[in-house]
Amino acid sequence: MAIATIDPTTGITLKTFDAHTPEEVENRIARAEAAFRSLQNTSFEERARWMHKAADILESEADEVARLIATEMGKTLTTAKYEALKSATGMRHFADHAQRYLSPETPVPASEVNASNLHVQFDPLGVVLAVMPWNYPLWQAVRFAAPALMAGNTGLLKHASNVPQCALYLGDLFARGGFPEGAFQTLLVEGKDVIPLVDDARIRAVTLTGSVAAGSAIAEAAGRNIKRSVLELGGMDVFIVMPSADIEKAAAQAVIARLQNSGQSCIAAKRFYVHEDVYDRFEHLFVTGMAETVAGDPLDESTSFGPLATERGRQDVHELVRDAREKGAAVQCGGEIPEGEGWYYPATVLTGVTENMRIYREECFGPVACLYKVSSLQEAIALSNDSDFGLSSSVWTNDETEATEAARSIEAGGVFINGLTASFPAVPFGGLKDSGYGRELSAYGIREFVNIKTVWTA
Ligand code: NAP
Repeated sequence: MAIATIDPTTGITLKTFDAHTPEEVENRIARAEAAFRSLQNTSFEERARWMHKAADILESEADEVARLIATEMGKTLTTAKYEALKSATGMRHFADHAQRYLSPETPVPASEVNASNLHVQFDPLGVVLAVMPWNYPLWQAVRFAAPALMAGNTGLLKHASNVPQCALYLGDLFARGGFPEGAFQTLLVEGKDVIPLVDDARIRAVTLTGSVAAGSAIAEAAGRNIKRSVLELGGMDVFIVMPSADIEKAAAQAVIARLQNSGQSCIAAKRFYVHEDVYDRFEHLFVTGMAETVAGDPLDESTSFGPLATERGRQDVHELVRDAREKGAAVQCGGEIPEGEGWYYPATVLTGVTENMRIYREECFGPVACLYKVSSLQEAIALSNDSDFGLSSSVWTNDETEATEAARSIEAGGVFINGLTASFPAVPFGGLKDSGYGRELSAYGIREFVNIKTVWTA
């Protein structure tokens, strides 16, 4: 994929960028390694001061950054600004809490292990490579960068090829806050050139947010090099609605769950399992809500959702819908590529989806919902778990026993009761099965890229 800003509302290439030459890549890795030697000797207070300053800069530039995000990948200005502000909040969270998350621990009294002194400390690892996607071009990168830098690591960001200007902005942001030159840099390289970076001994760990295919390639290279890795991959999150739920609210939230970021979110609900006792009401409200929510120009503040980010992405979405329709699924709304320029796709609801349809198992990264009727919570949970993915889930019930059962039995990294799945700086985020491994955010996230060092004194 060429490195370029292509306007998703027109398909017009606005700006192209040359990939960094091998010499430039080499310089940046060397600079990251040198910066680590100085960053690891700085205090939490110093790093927190720089991180706060970088957050202040980002907040003060949120309007321009939002315009950049909206132009490069098509989300609405309103949600892009929200993303910029959320990123600043995430940076401040790690500035304020990293020291506590990484403060030394004493697992047992020293005497129990025949020591006079015992503690466990959390040392930074070194240079960490982050391979990031375009769907939340700021937040995805910041939720790696803020904990990594606060822990004393340095970062190299290989961002998605369609958001180069967001990538370059991030490449300067932390140095503008005061971090040493080289502590956080952008590498303009294409996905096909990432594996040699993982093979480079100076890069001590790697994290990827993206597709299963890319995750698998990274995991293979990391394994070969015996290198720490974290993977945040795809999702087929479920949205379960039981009779005791507030059905109006659930249906309204279901529309948001599926259409956020034009449906291009790993934690967007993609499979909707609704109890038969409330199915008809829910279906009516949900399909009406989806049909009424129309895609439009992301720069217009009244737009609910924008185009898909790439032409290929829209093609993939439509192929899944076409396959389902050909095999007998009913299209309750949407399902057709609109006339005109831009990579728009309408809010779409499919019913009658069966196992032989690709969309039953494959992640659809666009505004397409699959709606199913179930006769019990057990059936909903069994269907939820009949998936290669296990990222998160949303369960709507006012029955405490059902909520407990769902939280116990759903195979996912998160269960949200009566609310949308979301990420918060203080709460762990990640999945299992093909959704990846490891966690981002919270104390768990910041401890992914540290050396857990035992210090035992006789
Ligand atoms: P993608 O193709 O995997 O791209 C993600 C990143 O990986 C990009 O920087 C890309 O670079 C790079 N890449 C692609 N192929 C690679 C390879 N073989 N080796 C190394 N790097 C490679 O993902 P996408 O389709 O753009 O993004 C959507 C996917 O990300 C969805 O599956 C979504 O669910 C997932 N996602 C997950 C989370 C989460 O937190 N779990 C969050 C957001 C998105 P180029 O752009 O240069 O190709």
